[in-house]
Amino acid sequence: MTLSNQVAIVTGAGRAGKGIGRAIALALAKAGASVVISDFVPENADRVANEVITAGGKAIAITSDVTLSSDCEELVARTVNEFGRLDILINNAGITRDNLLLRMSEDDWDSVVNTNLKGAFLCTKAAARIMVKQRRGKIVNIASVMGIVGNAGQANYAASKGGIIALTKSVAKELGSRNININAVAPGFIQTVMTDALPEELRDRMREQVPLKRLGEPEDVANIVVFLCTEAASYLTGQVITIDGGLFM
Ligand code: NDP
Repeated sequence: MTLSNQVAIVTGAGRAGKGIGRAIALALAKAGASVVISDFVPENADRVANEVITAGGKAIAITSDVTLSSDCEELVARTVNEFGRLDILINNAGITRDNLLLRMSEDDWDSVVNTNLKGAFLCTKAAARIMVKQRRGKIVNIASVMGIVGNAGQANYAASKGGIIALTKSVAKELGSRNININAVAPGFIQTVMTDALPEELRDRMREQVPLKRLGEPEDVANIVVFLCTEAASYLTGQVITIDGGLFM
């Protein structure tokens, strides 16, 4: 149990079934961490927390909207109240509002950047206050390969994920001296509710482009995230690990 006695927050972890956040929460709990399942919708957060408990782990659910600084601060305060510390933050909450640039509304831009980028900033700031005092912490930001290579129809999403990468590197430089590691993972095509909704033909084409000839599973992302939270990864910070079956090399 490599993460015994450690406390982790996973944002956007309430998507049951195939969510990446849920897979990360289950994997962290399996490694021994107590996990705070944070999500928008209370029933969703409760459901995943119950899944973790049923699997033998420790979890609580906290409802929070990562776009609100008050919610992010309360999320961290309630976690510390409940467990006495905070060792791990996973900034996973994310949304898409795809459209070509000329058709993209200001609202589509704002909601994606606010959730994906500002949300990660607000949660990182709230968590860092505790981690700096503890002189210890691990933060993993869920970016995307689209934040590295860009994608037509996703200017807002790609910009938010590119921003997360720059946030990761900047905070790594600021907080490294306080023994805080912050890294990003950049998943490629992962099988989730989002990709399940795509036509079979498109999914076949995506699979064909991947050197490993399969789409990723949420667990493929979760395994690397857990590794980044362990002491085995203690000399890694400010890095972006691409998890895409070799799609973008
Ligand atoms: P999901 O939509 O399944 O999960 C995201 C979760 O975040 C949902 O539960 C959602 O709640 C929640 N959420 C949305 N807005 C907020 C908010 N303001 N505050 C708190 N929670 C919020 O997505 P995935 O599991 O597919 O993706 C997880 C992460 O991985 C995202 O950051 C995504 O960008 C990234 N990613 C995903 C890839 C993929 O192929 N699926 C590829 C690359 C990166 P609700 O359902 O109520 O909206």
